[in-house]
Amino acid sequence: MSRFAGKYAIVTGAAQGIGAATARRLAAEGATVACVDLTADRCSAIVDEITVTGGQAAAFGADVSDSAQVERLVADVVDRFGRIDVLVNNAGIIRDNLLFKMSEEDWDRVLDVNLKSVFLMTKAVQKHMVEQRSGAIVSLSSRSALGNRGQANYSAAKAGIQAFTATVAIELGPFGIRVNAVAPGYVATAMTAATAARVGSTPEEHQAAAAKLIPLRRVADPSEIASVVAFLASDDASYVTGQTIYVTGGAR
Ligand code: NAP
Repeated sequence: MSRFAGKYAIVTGAAQGIGAATARRLAAEGATVACVDLTADRCSAIVDEITVTGGQAAAFGADVSDSAQVERLVADVVDRFGRIDVLVNNAGIIRDNLLFKMSEEDWDRVLDVNLKSVFLMTKAVQKHMVEQRSGAIVSLSSRSALGNRGQANYSAAKAGIQAFTATVAIELGPFGIRVNAVAPGYVATAMTAATAARVGSTPEEHQAAAAKLIPLRRVADPSEIASVVAFLASDDASYVTGQTIYVTGGAR
């Protein structure tokens, strides 16, 4: 498949997990991918992997919650690639705690990295997509948007992404730009491994316990989220905009 031949994509939080799987998938289907993480060095492994297998990718460093760094990043990518066809807003963090113990700092950081970054990146990229009269933006929400104990900050941010997506799709639709979100359930990544460690479990124990509550009886591999992101970013989804697709193995 070469759904992204001749297309240029940005994937944030691409050093590992769902972001790396998405960069790998888009590149495998022909995209040239700007892999963004806090430092360019952190993306060197995924960029090497993509290029060794015949794909095209480049590493960029930016804190996507910082407006000055986002402006510079998007200018650098446009200088290097000339255009941006796909933006995947994937970078995210968790700072879980019950509300009565949650610090203002943890609230702010989670909202900044998960939600404000989506505003900053989308705003910076859309002006190039508007000029092109085409583009696809996909952001990572979460099943936690429906409510999850210990995640008042994260679930608020991820619900915010869904509302942002629905609204910006209305504003950018007339310019041929589609805006969608993917809301994964439990995905086996460093993020969920950190959650396991916090509750004193191994990743395997934690995944096995979670799997019992999921209709498909297993947690997701990052590639199973990347394939839905790729669908939404591709022309296969040419009439899909303003939507959030839940990818949870049936968990509600
Ligand atoms: P992950 O393994 O922790 O990867 C996230 C990446 O984003 C890391 O490389 C991280 O770097 C980077 N990052 C963090 N803050 C950043 C910033 N300010 N600027 C640029 N990059 C930054 O996470 P994941 O599990 O793949 O999750 C990816 C996305 O899916 C997130 O938005 C997450 O909320 C969402 N999601 C995940 C799950 C799941 O079960 N894993 C479920 C639903 C939704 P550092 O490692 O240095 O922090």
